[in-house]
Amino acid sequence: MSLGNSISLLLAVLCIANASAADSPKPVIVCSTTQVADFARQVVGDRMIVKSVLAAGQDPHLYEKKPGDAQLVSTADLCLENGWHLEGNDWMRKLAEQSGRPLVTCADGCKPLEVPGVEQAMHDPHAWFSCTNAATYVRNIRDAVAEVDPDHAEEYRSRAALYLDELRALNTWILREINKIPVEQRVLVTSHDAFNYFCQAYGMKAATPVGWSTGNEIGAGITPERRQQTVDSIRQHHVKAIFVETSVNPTMVREIAREAHVEIGGELYSDSMGAEGTAGETYIGMMRENVITIVQALR
Ligand SMILES: [Zn+2]
Repeated sequence: MSLGNSISLLLAVLCIANASAADSPKPVIVCSTTQVADFARQVVGDRMIVKSVLAAGQDPHLYEKKPGDAQLVSTADLCLENGWHLEGNDWMRKLAEQSGRPLVTCADGCKPLEVPGVEQAMHDPHAWFSCTNAATYVRNIRDAVAEVDPDHAEEYRSRAALYLDELRALNTWILREINKIPVEQRVLVTSHDAFNYFCQAYGMKAATPVGWSTGNEIGAGITPERRQQTVDSIRQHHVKAIFVETSVNPTMVREIAREAHVEIGGELYSDSMGAEGTAGETYIGMMRENVITIVQALR
């Protein structure tokens, strides 16, 4: 064999070795919601493949499982759900159980707010809307991925620590921004009760015509009383603007705006983040855009 041929052979062997290292399958995480998927990406970087069942703009309460979902979940090394019945009829839990894949409920460990349930009060599932709770989601994910891939646990802890710092900074910024709204104007009127944690954490009062879910669960859905209370609340507080949500049909909020003679202040990300390439495509981006929209409309 000539020297040239030997070098070619060596290069070919090196290429094959490299390709097999790159091809070694990465663990797969399948998430129910876009928020949970973003938290997971922040923690695992490129070490794992993160997929989300829901696409941007889809409503987790009303989601109907698609034929491909069971196949997607069956490929997961780890499944992540928001939990607390955000996923209507617990569709993510059912998918994970049917495939026998491990499932972590990211909201577990957050301090819950209560909403009406079937026999007793239950936890309001929209816990990610306070940065403190978002940090709990991130810690749950950090611990879960470290178990799936203990060799890189230190790396996951480092990424999580940096991201937790970013969440703390975001929290401080939101408090400062909301303080620009006159106290009596700090009323947040949206379609459904997604913003209870946000309002509690950042000193606002929530008013919505629809309860904790856009679906037909107990304590959810629109009633004439709730709708009237929302209109009364707008008039009583002289609310300047109310908001539609990106994942909920805006018709009712528009009707209420006309009836109460109030403006639509813009569109808020609620149960879903923005599409790829938009300012709301990450959790931090979504929170920032919401706060800017709210403050612009109400200050
Ligand atoms: Zn919701």
